[in-house]
Amino acid sequence: MSQPLSIFFTIMPSMSMPAELLASLKDDNFWRSLEAITKKAEKVMPQVTVASHKRGDSGTLDQRIEDRSEFARMGVKLATITGSPLLDPGCVPNRQLPVPNGMTHCVNLVNKIVRKDYGRPGQRVELAKLPYLLKRIRHLLRVFYDFKVGQRVHPDMVFCDWEKTFDVGLTLHQVGLCLQLDPPRLRAVMEAGGRELEVFLLDDDLDVGDFRKTAMIVEQRVAADVESEDSDRVAAGEIEQAAGKDLAAHVMAWFYGDMSVAFILNERAESTPDEKRWAQKAVKRLVQWSTSATLRGTLGDSLTDAMRPIYWSTPVLTKFCQAGGLAALFGDWVNSSCRDLCEEALKELPDVAWRNQTSASLAAITRELQAKLNQESVEIADTPIFIDACFSMYTHYGLAPLQKAGRRESPQDPVVFYYLAHHLKRLPPPANTAPQRADFAHLLADYTAMPRSMQKRYGWANLTVSGRWDCLDSYGCEAEGCPEKATLEQLRARRVRGVREPAVERRLEEWGSKAMACKACGRVAYCSAACQRVHWPTHKPECLKHRNAKRRL
Ligand SMILES: [Zn+2]
Ligand SMILES: [Zn+2]
Repeated sequence: MSQPLSIFFTIMPSMSMPAELLASLKDDNFWRSLEAITKKAEKVMPQVTVASHKRGDSGTLDQRIEDRSEFARMGVKLATITGSPLLDPGCVPNRQLPVPNGMTHCVNLVNKIVRKDYGRPGQRVELAKLPYLLKRIRHLLRVFYDFKVGQRVHPDMVFCDWEKTFDVGLTLHQVGLCLQLDPPRLRAVMEAGGRELEVFLLDDDLDVGDFRKTAMIVEQRVAADVESEDSDRVAAGEIEQAAGKDLAAHVMAWFYGDMSVAFILNERAESTPDEKRWAQKAVKRLVQWSTSATLRGTLGDSLTDAMRPIYWSTPVLTKFCQAGGLAALFGDWVNSSCRDLCEEALKELPDVAWRNQTSASLAAITRELQAKLNQESVEIADTPIFIDACFSMYTHYGLAPLQKAGRRESPQDPVVFYYLAHHLKRLPPPANTAPQRADFAHLLADYTAMPRSMQKRYGWANLTVSGRWDCLDSYGCEAEGCPEKATLEQLRARRVRGVREPAVERRLEEWGSKAMACKACGRVAYCSAACQRVHWPTHKPECLKHRNAKRRL
């Protein structure tokens, strides 16, 4: 609730800050309209939260489906305030009747076959049409977004006849919920749909589209290049931004998610071998989709919405975590409109849920924890969820994941894991006893109370060379006109990518690591006494303020 704006930009995959929005940041009108948007959003937020808790566990089947899909409606209502691409029409929205064999026709037919005509004579013949219809829907979404994002023209565009893209997603979501809440119907559908339906639901790769695939490749290349700079990351971000307009997978995410959850929830000891296989595939698929950083962004909150039943049940969640899904729970705690739901799940999470994590999964978890600190405040590090997570990770996997997370990828990441690993290695005796939860609690409390200048020094120690060059302004000596900084800036300008100069790099490293903190307040640091004298008139008011605050403690 404290950050309605960040929610705008996370609720839909394509809602990351557009270039025009960045350009308008200097415009007063922009700020006034942003204020109005924020006010509107704050009114809707409580409704979103209420909807996120609706489990649909009582009433008729239709009521339960309505309850469960309210969260999707509210999410779109919230996103609409800033203009959601999910409200875009198809290519031929103004036709009076649905185009035969078009999207509206197919979606309505799926809904009719599964929800309205179920139980009537001849249902098996009708249900057997589902694989064809679902593939047709997937295909038409692809045709539409290939045109929308890449202006690629396809003859089937004439079948893209919907009024709002969201309606396609919502109708399929309700079909998925219907099958999830009514196990005999799910069995009938799977029996009639056969192998073809199983492949569609549980084996086919997610259709992310060529544009997103390209964006993922560029992003991976930039991440793998140790010398990549901010400008490379910005360029990769712009490609991703353009690709983000492809919502084909996002629109289907509710349905795919609901179906996978259905297979997982319906598995019993007495299940048939088919049902067991479906459940197994469903877990694998959900883990993969929900923990991959790139797919997660593609699927957005639709997937989180569909996964709520997993988060509601501790036994199901524990199994899901042990299959590799633990990182998804942390991710949704940090970055979804289900954060308080996930917070409750994390508080109840048994330690055994930490078993069987891969190093990739642990890396994803630590990334999410860092993001949480960045997003809210360092004080989060001193809360039970954070302490438990670090302690469980340590008891199951030792120092390695903490150390690995301590080598940060981005200069903006907090240094909490570096700090933890650094101090855990040198905890005072008794040396034979392993660190306890209380030790973690103390260390993390100390971390949150650490003076700013010291946090910076840890941060500097932990940056890559190109990170240090990029961040000269955020670290090291804070005196304006620091002569050493001026020299380093000159050296930076002369730098040639690919050519390493050890002496220069050492000089750079020392400028940041040897800076001495102001003894009175600990908030600023300088490379020399001369620099401190120069900066004193600027620093004095801040210093006195913090000195007084410290005295009161
Ligand atoms: Zn200096
Ligand atoms: Zn000071």
